[in-house]
Formats: sequence, structure tokens, C-alpha cells
Amino acid sequence: VSPGSTLRPERHQPGSLSPDLPWAARDLTALLRLGLLGLVAIAVGWIGSSGTVVLSRQAGWVGAAVMGNLMAGAAMVGWLLAGLRSVRQLKQEVVADLDARWPESTALDTSGGDLSGLVSLAGARRYHRAGCHLVAGKPTRVAAASAHHRAGRQPCGVCVRDSA
Ligand SMILES: [Zn+2]
Repeated sequence: VSPGSTLRPERHQPGSLSPDLPWAARDLTALLRLGLLGLVAIAVGWIGSSGTVVLSRQAGWVGAAVMGNLMAGAAMVGWLLAGLRSVRQLKQEVVADLDARWPESTALDTSGGDLSGLVSLAGARRYHRAGCHLVAGKPTRVAAASAHHRAGRQPCGVCVRDSA
């Protein structure tokens, strides 16, 4: 493996707009459509209810606006979930790639093994096994797992994995 090689999968996600975006074009279209529909329903509800001061006539328009709000909210939640799903999938691919390239440097069993040589970067929120390639060549500090936990650090998802 050359030093300049990248761990990032080179292939594009099928249907994605760009390799830098975790959203596929079809997700974008569907969620944008739902969000716009929600905004239209809110606008229709607002315009419809603004022409009258009679509460019983406003109720239906308010209902339309509430439905629009729910649709727009669902579109936003769907947007976040679709992105999260893609990021999780990409992370699994990177971990599988790391396993294939450096099988000896990954998959530390935290249930029993020696956890005294765990390292972290200054100000980082994750701790790593000393041989982790994500911290290779960087100025790290060594501490026990308990010390990392006390400092509020989480285990690296690549080199430190729970056996559970
Ligand atoms: Zn790591």
C-alpha cells in the first residue's frame, strides 16, 4: 500500500449526485417533492384562513396547514435518515477496507484484551488503539481506557470494537 493511497471508496454510490453527497438523486427528488407539497399546503392553509374571521370556516384551512407541517417535517426527517443510512454504509465499507488491508491492526476485543495502550489526539472525542491508521503519524497521548472514558471520549469505530 502506497503512502498516498486513499481509504475512501472510489466508486460512486448508484444514483448519487456526487461522491461527496450521501444522498441519492431519487431520495432528493422524493423528499424535495414531499417538502414542497407540505409548504404549498401550509401556504394554502394560511391564504384560505386569512380571508375569514369565522372560526368554523378557518378550521379546515388550519387542518390543511397542519397536514402541510407534518409533510414538511416528515420530508426533513426522511432527509436526515437517508443521509445517516448512506454514511453508515460508507463507514462499513471503510472498516471492511481497513480489515482487508491491515487485518492485524483492527478489531481489538475490548472485553478482555490489554487496553493500556490506547491513544487519543489532543481535544479529540475518540480514542484509538496505538496501531490505528487514523492516528498514524499524529501526536497522540497514551492513556488507559478508563481514563479516556473519564475524559468523555468514545472508542474509535474502526480500531476499537466492542465484542458485544
Ligand atoms: Zn482508530
